[in-house]
Amino acid sequence: MPTVEGPFPAADVTEWAQTADVVVIGLGIAGACAALEAQRAGADVLVLERAGAGGGASALSQGQFYLGGGTDVQTACGYEDSPENMYAFLRSVTTTDEDAKLRVFCESSVEQFDWLESLGVPFNREAYTHKAVYTRTGEGLLTTGNEKVWPFRDQAAPAPRGHQVSGDGDVSGGNVAMRAVLGAIEAEQVPVIYEANVIGLVQDAEGRVVGVKMRRDGRDSFVQARKGVVLAAGSFNLNADITAEHMPLFSEYGKPLGEPTNDGAGLLLGRTVGVAERGMAGLVATASIYPPEDLIKGIVVNAEGRRFMPEDAYHGRMAHTIARQPGARAFLIVDEEIFGYPKHGSHTFLDAYETVDEMEAALSVPAGSLVSTLDRYNADVAAGEDAEFHKHPDWLKELKAPYAVFDISIPRSDYHWMSLGGLVTDEDGRALHPDGTTVPGLYAAGACTNHLAQDGDEYASGMSLAAGSIFGRRAGAHAAAS
Ligand SMILES: Cc1cc2nc3c(=O)[nH]c(=O)nc-3n(C[C@H](O)[C@H](O)[C@H](O)COP(=O)(O)OP(=O)(O)OC[C@H]3O[C@@H](n4cnc5c(N)ncnc54)[C@H](O)[C@@H]3O)c2cc1C
Repeated sequence: MPTVEGPFPAADVTEWAQTADVVVIGLGIAGACAALEAQRAGADVLVLERAGAGGGASALSQGQFYLGGGTDVQTACGYEDSPENMYAFLRSVTTTDEDAKLRVFCESSVEQFDWLESLGVPFNREAYTHKAVYTRTGEGLLTTGNEKVWPFRDQAAPAPRGHQVSGDGDVSGGNVAMRAVLGAIEAEQVPVIYEANVIGLVQDAEGRVVGVKMRRDGRDSFVQARKGVVLAAGSFNLNADITAEHMPLFSEYGKPLGEPTNDGAGLLLGRTVGVAERGMAGLVATASIYPPEDLIKGIVVNAEGRRFMPEDAYHGRMAHTIARQPGARAFLIVDEEIFGYPKHGSHTFLDAYETVDEMEAALSVPAGSLVSTLDRYNADVAAGEDAEFHKHPDWLKELKAPYAVFDISIPRSDYHWMSLGGLVTDEDGRALHPDGTTVPGLYAAGACTNHLAQDGDEYASGMSLAAGSIFGRRAGAHAAAS
């Protein structure tokens, strides 16, 4: 658990050990982008990083950035997109009430792509056109959300927006991206103090955040921030108390994504000065049934033997929907023609069955339920349209005996997940009180803030790194200018 105290009254601070214009807490993608932008705007910046090196969860990540609106990679790969089209898609799939942030996200996207490339973050001009969770084969672009899934495919022209940083052997794309971003921090001589654990915020009599308390080598000291403090301390995925309270199912059965310092320090520091929180139960989980993508041609049923969603949905949407089924249980039914083992999720192969009756008995679903589910599905396949859930015709295929079943229930498989809720900010990264007023002097960005997608059914892979970098930069720029 993180140590978080305070807030400390500025009047009680007898000595500032260090002073900067902008103090950034954490050196993952959000903090690094905030620091670079603030220093480039002429501010005197100081980054305080609790670990012995920068990177955070960002360096562990797959390195997908959800960017669009007509980036150079999209254009080079022959895809048309525009900020309006990107907004139309995200507006239809998300329920966020932070519309100004959503617009900024879409309108900044092309420039953000160019900016990342200017730091040396590599994106190949080659698209991966199959369904995948991520690629390690060098392609720089793939579809990572629900763009082609009903009803969204009718609401905005589908375009791939998952910009995949090329991994390097066993090294993930996120690691490669962070090497470039941290390389810029070093090249531009942005001051960083490592093993500096920020344990509290300092507030003046008017409520303005004017500094932080840090603990280093067992000694506490105060660091003054003349213009602003940027909280970029990452997620609370590894804070068992917070996750058990807000996301009990996945806290019990899932595996949180992140590194040990993703323990909610940013959220808890924000709480000490009354920053609003939103979407705390929101998370995106994944134990994708694809690849191999042929498995999408199977059907997913619940413990009542009924289908409940289109099987071609984004893997995070599927996990979200399974979590809402009775007992969070679900089965993937395939046949001999499309059989394969799912690459992700460690899903349990149950058995092969010669008849539907035998399969019903083995799965303990109501007698007759799978017979009618398969009859209806196969009739829809013959008609060329999944009238019930609108799975794309590309994935429709008659299912015939013998069948095979994987148990893809949340409690039975390895669902990895990350939280999506957190501190509330405006489009410039300013931290907000519950009444919408700003907390003067305080900014927040990245995984300690509330995401644009409120849950796994709204998310697209890459939205965290993209938003962390865009709103991190905006926070840094705004703080420097304040
Ligand atoms: C395996 C994995 C794969 C992922 N893949 C993707 C992907 O492809 N695309 C995507 O968009 N998202 C992905 N994510 C999620 C994404 O990586 C995170 O949401 C994002 O990196 C968060 O960035 P951040 O800068 O907010 O936090 P982090 O990168 O975690 O950085 C926070 C930093 O703050 C430091 N810190 C914490 N507390 C303190 C303190 N009190 N004082 C000082 N410093 C502190 C930490 O040590 C850390 O270095 C993935 C995550 C994981 C773990």
